[in-house]
Amino acid sequence: MPSPSRRSQFIPFSPIRAMFRLADEMDRAGQGPVIRFHVGDPDFAPPDSVIDATHQAMKAGKTHYPQSVGVHELRLALTEKVTRRNGIAAEWEQVVVAPGSTEALLAVMEVALDPGDEILLPEIYWPNYGQQTLLASASSAFYPLGAGYQPDVEGTRRRITPRTRCILVNSPSNPTGAVFPRETLRALYDLAREHDLWILSDEAYEDIVFDAEHVSLGSFERDLPEEERRVFSLFTFSKSYAMTGFRLGYIVSPTMSTATILRKTQEPLVGSTASMIQWGGLAALKDDGPIAVMRDAYRRRRDFAVGMLREAGLIDYTPQGAFYVLADVASTGLTGEEFATALLEEEKVCVAPAAGFAFALRFGAGGAPEGSVAPGAAAPDYPVNPRARHLVRIAFCVSDEDVKEGIARLVRFAARCRDRRGASAR
Ligand code: PLP
Repeated sequence: MPSPSRRSQFIPFSPIRAMFRLADEMDRAGQGPVIRFHVGDPDFAPPDSVIDATHQAMKAGKTHYPQSVGVHELRLALTEKVTRRNGIAAEWEQVVVAPGSTEALLAVMEVALDPGDEILLPEIYWPNYGQQTLLASASSAFYPLGAGYQPDVEGTRRRITPRTRCILVNSPSNPTGAVFPRETLRALYDLAREHDLWILSDEAYEDIVFDAEHVSLGSFERDLPEEERRVFSLFTFSKSYAMTGFRLGYIVSPTMSTATILRKTQEPLVGSTASMIQWGGLAALKDDGPIAVMRDAYRRRRDFAVGMLREAGLIDYTPQGAFYVLADVASTGLTGEEFATALLEEEKVCVAPAAGFAFALRFGAGGAPEGSVAPGAAAPDYPVNPRARHLVRIAFCVSDEDVKEGIARLVRFAARCRDRRGASAR
C-alpha cells in the first residue's frame, strides 16, 4: 500500500479533540451535563436579520455558483467596512471572500510562501497555523512572548533567518486573550519592513476587545504606495456575529496583484463561498448593535472569571480581548493535561490543555519537518514548549451561569489538588 504524504502525516491533531471526545462520552453516559470551556464557539445566535437575509437569498434563487472571490455587493460593503473601521486603504478588488478565515489563512500562506520558506508564529498559538504551515509545505519557527503574552520584539528579531518570509500576528489572541498595543504592532511592522517579510494579520477577534483598542496592522501602510505594502489582513464573521457555522470570512490583500493571485488560489481551493451565506453576511454588516451586546456579555464573563482565578492564584494577567484566558495550574502539581482530565472527571468541567497550543514543530535545514510518526499513529508525538506545560485554556463564551458555576468548580478543584499535594509532602 502506498503511504500518505509525509506532510499530511506530520500535521498535529487539534488540542481540543481528546477533550471533546471525553466530554461527549460523559454526557452520553448520563454523567453530565459538562460545562464546556474547551471550545471557542459563542453561545449566542446570529442576528435575526442574518437568518432572514440568508433565507430570502435562497428563495430568490441565490443558489448558484458565485464568483470565486465573492459576491460583488458584499465585497463593496466590506471595502467600506475595512476603510472606515480598520483604517485600511483598499479597493474592492483587494477584498476576497472566503468560507471562513481558516480557509483564508491557508490561501494566504499558499500565496506568501514557497516550499521550505519559514513563517514566524507566536510561541503559543492557534494550532491551525502550525497545521496550515505544513499543508503549504512551509516551515514554522516561533517568536517569544513576554509578560502578559505580549510579543518580545527584540526576541522576534533574533528568530529571523534567511529563510524567513512571513510573520503571523494574532491580536486579540487565541489562546491568550492578549491584545497588542499600537507601539508593539508598529515595532513588529517595522521589523517586517526591515527584513522584507509578509505579515499575516489574523484579526478574527477584532470586535471583542475590552479595555484596550484594536489596531489593524494594515492601517500602518495606508499611505504607502502599493509596491511597498506587505500586510494580508484576515477577518471573519464567526466571532463578531456568532456566525461560526455559516463559514464566512475575508481577506484584504495588500496589493492588486496579490489579490489577483489569491483569486487564482481560491479557484482550486474552494471554488467559491456559498452564495446565500454571503447575502446573510451583507445583512450582518448593516447593524453593529449585536456586536456591542455580545462584547458586553464577554466582558462581564471575563471580569467574573478573572476575579476568581486571580484570587485563587491561577492567573497573573488580565486578557483584554477574545474570550479566552490561560490559567497556570503549576501550583496543583499537575500538568495542564492531567489537570484537564481530572477536572472533567471530578467536576464535569472541560478545559483545553495549552500543550496543544504550543507544539514545538521542528524543521531541518532544507525546511522538511523533523521527527517520525510511530507505526499506527497518525501524527508525531510533538515536544511541547515548556512554557505551556502547566497552562489550560478556558473559553468563556458559555452562559453567565455556566461561567460562574464552572469557574467556581475549577477553583475548588485546584484547591483540593493543592491540599492533596500538601498532605502527600508531609
Ligand atoms: N483565527 C483564530 C485566532 C481563531 O481562533 C479562529 C477560530 O477559532 C479562526 C481564525 C477561524 O475562524 P473561522 O474559520 O470560523 O472564520
